[in-house]
Amino acid sequence: MKEFLWTALPPQPLRHTATSQVESLAHYVLRMSEILGLPLASLIKQAGMQKAACAIPCCGLLPCTEQTLRAMEHLTGQNDLRCGTLWAVSRALSLHGAGTKSRPRRWCPNCYAEQTREEWSEPLAWLIRLMQTCPTHGCALVDRCRICGDTQPHGDSVVQRRQCRQCAASLGWCTGSAHLVQSALERWIDAQVLAIVNYAANPQSPQLPADAFHKACLHLQRIPERWALVPAVVRSRLRRGTRRLLPPPTLELLLEVAATQHCDVVPLLTAPDATFQSALWSPLSDRQDAGLRRPAMPRLRLRVVLDHLMGEGPAAHLPPVVCILSRLGLELDEARQAEPVRVARYQQRYLRQGPSARLRRLDIAVARTLRSVALTQHLVPAPAHLIRWRQRLTTQLGAVDASRVCVTAVELSSLTVEA
Ligand SMILES: [Zn+2]
Ligand SMILES: [Zn+2]
Repeated sequence: MKEFLWTALPPQPLRHTATSQVESLAHYVLRMSEILGLPLASLIKQAGMQKAACAIPCCGLLPCTEQTLRAMEHLTGQNDLRCGTLWAVSRALSLHGAGTKSRPRRWCPNCYAEQTREEWSEPLAWLIRLMQTCPTHGCALVDRCRICGDTQPHGDSVVQRRQCRQCAASLGWCTGSAHLVQSALERWIDAQVLAIVNYAANPQSPQLPADAFHKACLHLQRIPERWALVPAVVRSRLRRGTRRLLPPPTLELLLEVAATQHCDVVPLLTAPDATFQSALWSPLSDRQDAGLRRPAMPRLRLRVVLDHLMGEGPAAHLPPVVCILSRLGLELDEARQAEPVRVARYQQRYLRQGPSARLRRLDIAVARTLRSVALTQHLVPAPAHLIRWRQRLTTQLGAVDASRVCVTAVELSSLTVEA
């Protein structure tokens, strides 16, 4: 039936629907202007849209995104273009500051290098600021030309987007996976963001209600051992106005709550009762999320942290073991008694990292980074803070060591210093 329908614009499907690589609505509109040979501004004007599509909601979809969505679905006869936005979670989640406005455009150099003209597509995930890597390649998303270092504008045509506006160099090049230099926390955040995109990308996903987070918190409140781990800001707000709905959380807050409960963000919003039924501390923790677990017992925590830092290998700087113990409220003797083999192995690894003067310099950098409030006041540090720290450290230590210090600091920042 559908193929006999006449549509004003070519009935182009949105690319990669129902996958975490789903094309953003913003890119779909750009692609449409390319297909029509019509400048973007003319397309926007003639289709009755306000301005360029912005795919990131901020308490519901932005009015201009809603309008673009309606206009494009009407004109192309496609009924799943909302999958290129975060419509499905837009009422349950507030993404303040996560939008594209006034931030430089980001892209994956591998995607630009590999895609042929017929495959051009830019994933919705690239627009979410907390996401650090490409959903297809796992390499770091970049926002600067590698030749001249210039940032790139958002509103270009699809063709122009792949060339630097300053020096005309290609913005596509081959680069390796970023997973080795990411900490476990950063990898977990990327996986959670992708799960949200995956939910939104599926045409079958119902729109989550505005009270999804509130309901999850009510469930948590009934389980004291879980409730105690919820960030204080949420607990006090729920206590103050029992009748009032908690506002939709920012993505950062949602991640923080999920991390303390050892669950994933999508089930937390979609099925909180089932999610919180399982035991909080499973005896067998898998390596992947071991760093995120906060075992109540300091000794168990010690084992997790040591394993984890050693598992990070050369991507992390191993700080002196006493630096970790002080954050766990443990004495060296206690630690040696509880984990003799691990502690000894860790200390050997520590010494093998290099000459003592260099170790000392990196130890100080880790300690200083951990004192930064911006990094430690939330379980999930804001990427903007991390980038600033990394830049500051790079001038002192060089890029490689700065990166290692950051990985370690992020790792240790999730260990609250017990008063
Ligand atoms: Zn890519
Ligand atoms: Zn350039």
